[in-house]
Amino acid sequence: MGSALFIPGVSNIAEAKSPALIKGEKPLILSTWNHGLPANAAAVAKLKAGGTIIDAVETGVRDTELDLSNLSVGLQGLPDREGITTLDASIMSGDGSCGAVAFVRQVKHPISLARVVMEKTPHVMIVGEGARQLAIAEGFPIEKEELSPNAKKAYLKWKETSQYKPIINIENHDTIGMIGMDAKGNMAGSCTTSGLSYKMHGRVGDSPIIGAGLFVDNEVGAATATGLGESIIRICGSFLIVELMRQGRTPQEACEEAVKRLIAKNKDIKDIQAGFLAMNKDGEVGAYAVHPGFNYAKATLQKNEMIDSNSQFTG
Ligand code: ASP
Repeated sequence: MGSALFIPGVSNIAEAKSPALIKGEKPLILSTWNHGLPANAAAVAKLKAGGTIIDAVETGVRDTELDLSNLSVGLQGLPDREGITTLDASIMSGDGSCGAVAFVRQVKHPISLARVVMEKTPHVMIVGEGARQLAIAEGFPIEKEELSPNAKKAYLKWKETSQYKPIINIENHDTIGMIGMDAKGNMAGSCTTSGLSYKMHGRVGDSPIIGAGLFVDNEVGAATATGLGESIIRICGSFLIVELMRQGRTPQEACEEAVKRLIAKNKDIKDIQAGFLAMNKDGEVGAYAVHPGFNYAKATLQKNEMIDSNSQFTG
């Protein structure tokens, strides 16, 4: 990899640079953005306490779902254009089991509801009122439907103009996607979000779509995504990365190829941010984004650190 991509009219294209590949560190937990750090810590603590890898990726992102400073995950997230916060989440195990919920209201931990879909129903995805009913049936607390003070302030400000114009890396893209591998090489992943702020009511992004926002296969590796969901769904991003790794690409090469595919298949790319994060079963890691600014947290039993991803475009 590493060759520059030519796009007419766009001059600021960076050479793809692969960070040093680190092999063989297990357990290994990766997650998107700064909130990945505390989420990874919670996931590692769960593993240390004897939890499975699926327990770890669920526990890790539950931490983010409660983070009041995060306006893109959980019920404190920014609402849709009607002023209603709706949540999407998915969870997947490396044996192919998976579950997802989308367009859910009033549930604090959509990731745990996704796990219920995976483990207690014959289905993969349950949405909207059906998901809320499942939550009630499973004894999940149903929260009062009101915006958090920060979300309310931002929404009222947005309503002054009601313009839908995503700002790259700011506010709109903070989904947490987490992928992990235990000491034996079993993998799992989770992804949870309130989606794009001020989206149309009923809009669902990539995060709860198995293969788009998340894909895990014990035979190969795992990938997760963040950024403009529509652009990621168009290329089946996470599935694409796992399949590229199956064909022999490193996680870094696979993430770079997915970004190039995304750029080729989406118009107005200067306004679109998307980032991918991947690991293979050898514990090699990859990350790449369309634009600068994407970072991720990487944790082993000894260390939990933030790493900046490279991107296709610079500046
Ligand atoms: N991928 C999410 C979505 O499109 C947004 C994000 O990454 O924050 O819903």
